[in-house]
Amino acid sequence: MRAIIVGGGAAGLYLSTLVPDSIIVERNPLCGKKLRATGGGRCNFTHASPVQELLVHYNGSLPFIRKVLYSHTPEDIIRHMEQLGIRSKTEDDGRVFPCTDNAEDAVRALIPDAGRIIIGREVIRADKNGNLFNVYLDNGSVLQSPALVIASGCSASAPGYRGSGYSILSSFGHTITPRRPALAPLRTERNLREAEGVSISVRVRYGRKTAEGEAVITHDGISGPVILNISRDIADGEEIILSFSDADMKELRVKDPRKLVKNAIDLPERLLRALIGNALMDKKVGNLSKSEERTITEEISSFRTKAWPMKRNAMTEAGGAILSQFNPETMESKLVPRLYAAGDVLDADADTGGYNLTWAFATAWCISQSLMI
Ligand SMILES: Cc1cc2nc3c(=O)[nH]c(=O)nc-3n(C[C@H](O)[C@H](O)[C@H](O)COP(=O)(O)OP(=O)(O)OC[C@H]3O[C@@H](n4cnc5c(N)ncnc54)[C@H](O)[C@@H]3O)c2cc1C
Repeated sequence: MRAIIVGGGAAGLYLSTLVPDSIIVERNPLCGKKLRATGGGRCNFTHASPVQELLVHYNGSLPFIRKVLYSHTPEDIIRHMEQLGIRSKTEDDGRVFPCTDNAEDAVRALIPDAGRIIIGREVIRADKNGNLFNVYLDNGSVLQSPALVIASGCSASAPGYRGSGYSILSSFGHTITPRRPALAPLRTERNLREAEGVSISVRVRYGRKTAEGEAVITHDGISGPVILNISRDIADGEEIILSFSDADMKELRVKDPRKLVKNAIDLPERLLRALIGNALMDKKVGNLSKSEERTITEEISSFRTKAWPMKRNAMTEAGGAILSQFNPETMESKLVPRLYAAGDVLDADADTGGYNLTWAFATAWCISQSLMI
């Protein structure tokens, strides 16, 4: 056996297609559980852009990430998936999916023969004796291999996850930076429940930063691409300021004082009602008092609320095993020869849009280049 891979998720499965004499140990009773949920069940497995454009969507050491992504680009991923029988399509925004729109097909194409997977078993620790790694499973058995790959992912959307991948890397001397939810919806103190389901373009201010894009009002807060992408930077209970509209009430008063507020402001009615309440909705713009005008302006353009990233709904995590302790060409540890790491366990994360799977697959490919020498 050439290598033991800890984790049969996106990175571990992709690697196993490139290294035929490897064995995956997966703690769940089936491999690729998270992969099946990606892209709303459609598996947005990469993003069709040149690497230079992809990079702005990543957080972490960009020179390191750049090297990895240039080694195995989205085009290479699309080609490899095609070789595995997954034809793909690219949507207008650059996101790439299997033509069948079914994540299950992608998982099926990546899963190796049953003889190369040990499922329902957790790797609880590992050590190295001479040139061999000893890999200890939760049923007391011990496997041996000349190479060990940690592809154990992160705790996001992984019930029962105990972080043993991180503790194995720490036990070999690797540094793990503090982890926090990323790509998570926000629960908000002031909620807009009445407008649940409304999709809207927003500008969000948080700390000293501003982001703009599509958001969706949820039962207890707000989600959507722009919110998911900034959630890694929001501390629990931090104030965010949402701007739904730049409508100028004074201008509206001059332009059409007889219009009702609900018809004068270009926002979905349910959202406007949730923001300003019933009483103001049906007033004529020209009849609003100065303080009512101010209230409306504040609510539609500077809606202030405290927010909390929702850990249990996060798609990934920020933080993890620091990149500088790995070689970006091979993903081999600089501390322990023939120890490798791939995917979410590393201190790199990205926006929504296929970038996280791109990272998982590209890091796996780098490892394969070293293992197959
Ligand atoms: C709902 C959802 C939707 C997403 N959609 C997208 C998308 O459309 N596009 C995109 O790019 N990204 C998406 N992501 C993120 C993407 O799924 C992850 O970035 C990717 O799966 C990471 O791959 P990984 O192999 O590092 O980890 P995982 O895929 O999480 O795999 C890790 C595996 O290791 C196993 N494991 C952990 N510890 C051990 C142990 N000690 N012993 C044995 N097994 C162990 C786990 O059970 C798991 O199967 C989404 C995530 C979620 C939750």
